Amino acid sequence: MPKIVEATASLVDIEVETLRTDAVQAFVKQETVFVDLTTDDGCTATGYSYTIGTGGSSVLALLREHLLPHLIGADATLVERLWTDLFASTRATTVGAITSLALAAVDTALWDLRCKRAGEPLWQLAGGFRRSVPLYDTEGGWLHLSTEELVSGALASRAAGWPGVKLKVGKERVDQDVERLAAVRDAVGPGLDIMVDANQSMTHAEARRRAAAFEPLGLAWFEEPLPADDVSGHVALARSTTIPVAVGESLYSAAQFRDYLARGAASVVQVDVARVGGITPWLKVAHLAETFNVHVCPHFLMELHVSLVAAIPNGRYVEHIPQLRAVTHGQLRIEDGHAVAPDAPGLGIDWNRDAIDDRRTA
Ligand code: MG
Repeated sequence: MPKIVEATASLVDIEVETLRTDAVQAFVKQETVFVDLTTDDGCTATGYSYTIGTGGSSVLALLREHLLPHLIGADATLVERLWTDLFASTRATTVGAITSLALAAVDTALWDLRCKRAGEPLWQLAGGFRRSVPLYDTEGGWLHLSTEELVSGALASRAAGWPGVKLKVGKERVDQDVERLAAVRDAVGPGLDIMVDANQSMTHAEARRRAAAFEPLGLAWFEEPLPADDVSGHVALARSTTIPVAVGESLYSAAQFRDYLARGAASVVQVDVARVGGITPWLKVAHLAETFNVHVCPHFLMELHVSLVAAIPNGRYVEHIPQLRAVTHGQLRIEDGHAVAPDAPGLGIDWNRDAIDDRRTA
C-alpha cells in the first residue's frame, strides 16, 4: 500500500483572461489552491480547487492547519475512506464552502495519484463513456457586453461549429434582456443552443416573469434564476415554465442535489467539482442525476470537467471558459465543437511549474 509521506498546499493567483461580469459580481482573479502529494513509492500527484476572488487564504489555512496532517502515513488508495475521514474531522464546519473547496483540493490530488498509478486517464478510470463531449461558450455572453458584441460572439461560436452559447441575463428591465436574447436568436437561427444565466439574482416573481418573456426564444436552460438555497422556489418555477431550470454551481454537498432532484427542481445539474468537494462526491451527484434522467453540465473548470463529463453517460455539455492557460502547457483540445478528454494518466492537466511559482502568494 502506498503511504502518503508528504502533503503540501499553496495558493496561486491566476489573472482573469478577460473581463467577466454577471448580474451580481465580476470575476476578479482565480485564487487557485494546489495540493501536492508524495507517496513512499515515489509517486507524486497534484490536485486543485479555486475561488473567483475571495476566501482562498481561508481554504489554504484549513488545509495546512487541519486537513493535510491527517494524510501523512495514510494509504493513498483508500480515496473514499480518506474523504469520509477528512469530512468527519471537520464536523464543526461542514457542510460549508471553505471546507468543500479544501476537500476538493485533496480529493482531486488523490484521484490524480490513483489514475497515474493505474496508468489510465481520468475519463476512463472514472467511468469511461466517450472521449469527447459537446462544448458551449460562455466567454461571448457576459452582462457588460453590448447586444452587437453578443451577436458577433454567438455567430463566431456557430461558425466554429460549437453547438451552444450562454448569455448572462439580469439587466434592470425585462425588455433589455429580451432585446439582447432575441437579437442573438435572430442572428444564429434555431439550430444553436442558447443558455441564459441569472446568477441567483432574481426574486421568484421576477424569475417567473422573465421566464415567460424568454419562452418564445427556445432557450436550452435558465440557470440559477433564484438564490441556491430556495429549493421550493425552484420547484414552483420549474412547474411554471417550459424552459429547463439549471442549478448546481452554488451547492456544496452531494445531498443538496438530492433535494433538488427528488422535488423536480433541477432539469440540468451543474455540479462543480471544486465546490462540491472533489471528484468523489462529483461522481455521486452525476450518477444520482442519471437515476432521475437528468443531464449533467458542470460549472466552469473545463480543464478538469472535460474528463468527468466524458466519464458518465448523462454528461451533456462542458462550459468553455479558458482560465488555466497561464499556468499550463498546451490547452484544451477542441475538435468540431467538442472538447476532447486528455489521454495522459492522471487528471490530464500539464501544469507549468515555473508559471505557478511566479504567481504563488502563499
Ligand atoms: Mg452560472
